[in-house]
Amino acid sequence: MEHFDTLLAKYADFIVRVGCNVQPGQTLIIGAPLEAAPLARLCAASAFDAGARDVRVDWSDDALTRIRLEKGAEEALCDVKPYLLRSYLDYAESEGGVCVLNLLADDPEALAGLDAGKVSRVSTARRKALAPWRSYTMNDRVQWSIAAMPSAAWARKLFPGLSRDDAVEKLWQLIFDTCRVTGGDPVGAWKAHLDRLTGLRDKLNRLDLESVRFESGNGTDLTVGLADGAVWESAGSVSEKGVPFLPNIPTEEVFTAPHRDKVEGVAYGTKPYIHNGQTIRGFHVTFEKGRITAYGAEENEALLGEILDTDEGARHIGEVALVPASSPINRSGVIFCNTLFDENAACHIAFGASYPGTTRGGAGLTEEQLLARGMNQSLIHEDVMIGAEDTRITGRTRAGETVALFENGEWVL
Ligand code: ZN
Ligand code: ZN
Repeated sequence: MEHFDTLLAKYADFIVRVGCNVQPGQTLIIGAPLEAAPLARLCAASAFDAGARDVRVDWSDDALTRIRLEKGAEEALCDVKPYLLRSYLDYAESEGGVCVLNLLADDPEALAGLDAGKVSRVSTARRKALAPWRSYTMNDRVQWSIAAMPSAAWARKLFPGLSRDDAVEKLWQLIFDTCRVTGGDPVGAWKAHLDRLTGLRDKLNRLDLESVRFESGNGTDLTVGLADGAVWESAGSVSEKGVPFLPNIPTEEVFTAPHRDKVEGVAYGTKPYIHNGQTIRGFHVTFEKGRITAYGAEENEALLGEILDTDEGARHIGEVALVPASSPINRSGVIFCNTLFDENAACHIAFGASYPGTTRGGAGLTEEQLLARGMNQSLIHEDVMIGAEDTRITGRTRAGETVALFENGEWVL
């Protein structure tokens, strides 16, 4: 690829300055797999240039994770030592505060074939132990962002006919294209894109919708009632201290909070659902009074069941998101096998927790107050794609009017 190093440096700088928007005096905490080391180093350099006090990197390794899950005793793996939580809180509570960056270079099949129940219980134990730290990002208390780069395993899975190097280069090209880096001015390109998403968000908020209904030829007919005080959000978020940031790179969605007890109908998955390195294909879920009462999948149905049984909230949804079929990620024709990209290829719902920020004043409410508004709570938040090329979406306003939002997979608002 021409100018690869230039594009990579622009990508890193964009992630740090627009994604995390690192502020002088903050510590940037980067989570990165070993394969992402070159990108992590560029991000660290950009962060210091932006005035970061320090940069901490937590390295991970898919292969090592697999070894531990295969050979380690479940009891030991679920025993998450308190120092781990403390180490994050020490930064979060220190003077300059933190911001968080997660770099992904996933192997989509890293955990394929392992005992799905064990994998899911171990990841639940970790989530439980780190919940107070996770609330910093889940509640947008601090700036946080997630961005991806190719791993060889990921690239080879997407392009099995290519050599390792060609597959990696092709995936880099796709990431640069869909993340608007290719034109050479990602910061400017994102400004225009975010303005458009913000415009749609504002229109939706003015409609004061009570519910949205998805219909498509594959059998999906799902009515999603919205939480009390639900507000539509788009790409950009703002931290507790008023610093704007971009949580997901790339992003094409406008999303809000469903009411946990007011979802009715059936939804069919339109893209593979990757969970902990395993793939669930051809799934469907049926809702009654907001709860999933029936489900099925052509592949890995038992894993879907495990996920939905994580806790009580896992059978309800915490997010509904609108994404047009013309999204560059969808139009690339590639299934990325990575939620960060695939969720921006199609309309989706999320099993599990809602984002408090998607109800008015939600960040300042207690768990009970959020629940009273219909905001779902769970240890998980799993995006699953239900948007198709022919998806039709209508909204029903609290005044009783019906408004067309999508026709044939596209915005008509
Ligand atoms: Zn989403
Ligand atoms: Zn989501």
